[in-house]
Amino acid sequence: MTITTKSAEETVALGRFLGGKAQAGWVIGLSGDLGAGKTTFTRGLAEGAGADPAGVTSPSFTFLHVYAGRIPVYHLDLYRLENESQVRDLGVDEYVGGDGVAVVEWFENVPELLPPSRLEARLAVVAADERRIEFRGSGTEWDALLRELETWH
Ligand code: ADP
Ligand code: MG
Repeated sequence: MTITTKSAEETVALGRFLGGKAQAGWVIGLSGDLGAGKTTFTRGLAEGAGADPAGVTSPSFTFLHVYAGRIPVYHLDLYRLENESQVRDLGVDEYVGGDGVAVVEWFENVPELLPPSRLEARLAVVAADERRIEFRGSGTEWDALLRELETWH
């Protein structure tokens, strides 16, 4: 299913909606060019999960940020990674699919890192303030959530 947002704040609100529903073990892969809104979306998601959104910045230089919410929010950015072993060396296994929700920017750089059960969101720039966000679940376990997203707004 696809949602179009018309401002950064709307993308934050969409992330917040999802974050409010997030459960331990959830893995959300975000793809889209620089500036597509992945970090903006994550800011809302963290807030919805009960974390302080002010702390959410691009983790490009650290790979991982952890935000304390109702459940931990693990925010990864694989922009600079090229292969799976680089990621394995970082020991991120414990964060992905564990006790919190993992949000992974540029997951398509190392898709094998993510468990097969995941939600994927592909963000694309439509216009200066407009983004198209396409959600896809890896299996039927995401169907109920995708239906809830249909009701968002
Ligand atoms: P990414 O993490 O994908 O590189 P960011 O979230 O860091 O992208 O940056 C997105 C930029 O686009 C921000 O400056 C944000 O304010 C702006 N923007 C404008 N419109 C939107 C929108 N509808 N959704 C998300 N971001 C938007
Ligand atoms: Mg980013």
